[in-house]
Amino acid sequence: MDARIPAEPPHAGMPVKSVLQDMEQTRLAVEMIGLGARLQVLESEVSLPRVRLLRLYKELCGVSPPKGMLPFSTDWFVTWRPNAHASMLLNAYRFMRRGGGLDGTRAMLAGFRMYREHVGVIGEAAELSFTRAWTLVRFYERGMLQLARCQCCGGKYVVHAHDPRRHYICRLCMPPARAGKSRKPTTAGAAG
Ligand SMILES: [Zn+2]
Repeated sequence: MDARIPAEPPHAGMPVKSVLQDMEQTRLAVEMIGLGARLQVLESEVSLPRVRLLRLYKELCGVSPPKGMLPFSTDWFVTWRPNAHASMLLNAYRFMRRGGGLDGTRAMLAGFRMYREHVGVIGEAAELSFTRAWTLVRFYERGMLQLARCQCCGGKYVVHAHDPRRHYICRLCMPPARAGKSRKPTTAGAAG
């Protein structure tokens, strides 16, 4: 009866070969929905038809998934405060990928959990939602964002793909002038 949901295109969702595989994919979808994944993320990571994902989402969340495109651009991840969080997440992802030998999706999930635990321990609110974290990993894997080693503290931080990496100093070692200071009452001459 819902005319807004289009008929399933023939290529949507990879054909699932076995019952076990089907279960595994369903479990993956449930896990990702539990972490706050949006429908576009599920569609690109889980090999189940869109209608099944929609039904799973509604069942677990009690509401339809939000519509519209994912709103994030690469710029957000290099702004001052999100950058520390984005860098933490990406380092965790790479650790899970290389050290843990996990595939992309599993490494992303494990990296996201590690990130959340870490910000919880240091008493900060998580700046990255699951969908944001997923977008970040995608930008990184597509070469739109990369990691640069800070010459001062040795940490690795997210930078744009075209940014120079040779003499990079991170924003924690050299914060922008405004950070941590109260704004001046005049609005003239923003950011110098
Ligand atoms: Zn640094």
